[in-house]
Amino acid sequence: MLELPRNDRFFDAKTPPQLPMTSPENDLDPGETHEAAGELLAHLQRVGVRFIPQPKAESVESWNSRWIQDAAPADSQPAVAATSPQSPPQPSAAGSSIGPEVKTPPRAPDTRLQPVESFSASDDPYPGTSLPIAERENQLANLASVVAGCTKCTLLAKCRTQTVFGEGNPAARFAFFGEAPGADEDRLGRPFIGRAGQLLDKMVQACKLQREDIYLLNTVKCRPPENRNPDPTELANCREYFEQQLQILRPEYIVCLGAVSAHSLLKTKLSIGRLRQRFHQYHESKVLVIYHPAYLLRNPDAKKAAWADLQMLMRDAGLA
Ligand code: URA
Ligand code: SF4
Repeated sequence: MLELPRNDRFFDAKTPPQLPMTSPENDLDPGETHEAAGELLAHLQRVGVRFIPQPKAESVESWNSRWIQDAAPADSQPAVAATSPQSPPQPSAAGSSIGPEVKTPPRAPDTRLQPVESFSASDDPYPGTSLPIAERENQLANLASVVAGCTKCTLLAKCRTQTVFGEGNPAARFAFFGEAPGADEDRLGRPFIGRAGQLLDKMVQACKLQREDIYLLNTVKCRPPENRNPDPTELANCREYFEQQLQILRPEYIVCLGAVSAHSLLKTKLSIGRLRQRFHQYHESKVLVIYHPAYLLRNPDAKKAAWADLQMLMRDAGLA
């Protein structure tokens, strides 16, 4: 396989990279290889391609192939527009067997599993105006220092090692919205760095994104003892912080990871099974609800559903 030398994440098609010499164990002619690669680069330049994204090839491929193998076609349904009605299941094509035709009545759709209509938690625009990136960084840093001193939840403030404010690209198109810090996050003060976070990284990479492209935040900024779910008072106490973060960031998409964040953001109690496969709305952000990576670690069978949801996100965002 021809390996083009790469920078950290991109190579610039305007400055063709130095091509590697072929090794004795492959039978490619070095001259032909260089010529073919040169033609490809010239073509990319002609059509205006300057940068080629450099995904972390191994992890994306292994993650994708695992998920694609797992994913049954029925789960990879095309994205459903928020307002479009569900199409009824098509009766299967007539069989070719000889004998009297047996008419099977069309199966009624299983309404328990149908996604609900879209939720619009707040359909008015975000208050204020979109901020320049430096100002977003400034405001996020100020808010983080307010959060670091917050003691609204007496128990959580007492138990925490430190607050976990959230982090990421202040110009992110995608905000991933989790539940609460766990033990690793509490220890290091950073979101999603434990086992669930590592799985999330792979999910993000499978979407052709890197962690630096996104923003990560949680519904509550302090670790609940024993990793229990945050209680309603804690969620209400911390709400103003995530609302301000989202207002500063104004991401195009908010991906709710699990029921706690979905319920909190969308103010509903519906199950993930009913909220997924639809875009909901929070101010101007499109909201997608997917299973939490910690849930996927415990229930690998749900990965195919999560992959279908992420594919829907990628298609909508023009990444697939
Ligand atoms: N789970 C979450 O929901 N958030 C984190 O930051 C880590 C694990
Ligand atoms: Fe404050 Fe939020 Fe921590 Fe509660 S969870 S103490 S509201 S930062």
